[in-house]
Amino acid sequence: MKLATFSTAENPTPRLGVVRGDGMVDVSTIAGAPDSMAAYLSGGQAADEQVRSAAATVSQAIALDAIDWHPPVPGPGKMLGIGLNYADHIAETGMKKPEVQMWFNKQHNCVNGPYADINLPAVSDKLDYEAELCVVIGRRCKHVPRERAHEVIAGYCCGNDVSVRDWQRSAITMQIGKSFDTHGPIGPYLVTPDEVGDPHNLDIRALVNGEVRQSSNTRHLIFDCYDAVAHLTRAFVLDPGDVLFTGTPAGVGNAMKPPCFLKAGDVVRIEIEKLGHLEARVARERAECVIQ
Ligand code: ZN
Repeated sequence: MKLATFSTAENPTPRLGVVRGDGMVDVSTIAGAPDSMAAYLSGGQAADEQVRSAAATVSQAIALDAIDWHPPVPGPGKMLGIGLNYADHIAETGMKKPEVQMWFNKQHNCVNGPYADINLPAVSDKLDYEAELCVVIGRRCKHVPRERAHEVIAGYCCGNDVSVRDWQRSAITMQIGKSFDTHGPIGPYLVTPDEVGDPHNLDIRALVNGEVRQSSNTRHLIFDCYDAVAHLTRAFVLDPGDVLFTGTPAGVGNAMKPPCFLKAGDVVRIEIEKLGHLEARVARERAECVIQ
């Protein structure tokens, strides 16, 4: 099942939908069914069954070309990213393979829709893409052993861990350089594990203006999705709607010779087998003072 958060021109309220062929079933119109991704994710198995039944029985669907797409998880509680998690990317950065998982915060408010513009910051021209498999958590959990990690995963989606390289490097936490507004695109929908099958055998690519820059497979992850859940929940609770960015393969712009950063007008496309794609135009941000 492919679950989305969407709105339409006629009804601008973001709500839960299920993609069926070339249409979107509006789950929020079904009495008793969860009307948002947050309600779905916190509703457990009962909510999942309601949504599956609604998607199978509702005859009407909205044409996908009339849909405004939002991030499938519009308000993640946490967004965490792991650094240096594909061997070929480690080689291109010249860093050493980490012995423990190296996580950083991506501020949750940088979450962005799958087709929304990405800001070229007013304060930097070192803007880069990172194609990543994202894991969305579906259960409140702590101390989850690796062999049970699959039980807490609601699904998977594409992610772009957009990075401002000079700001990333300026602080050891990397937090600000990974968290500029609009720099957390996810989507286009959440694909449930039954439809994904093995999450560690998916082709993953990034293209800039149609040119393939990254091309790998999630089988090359050093620490896989289950390792991530096990490691993080040794330290803190993961909650429904938390999003984990699982690292990027070789081919980022920063590692090209010479480095090739994103410019205004560039189109960045992230594709993952079975999970659809993200596509964003880069738009120059204006340095306007806002005080509300
Ligand atoms: Zn990353």
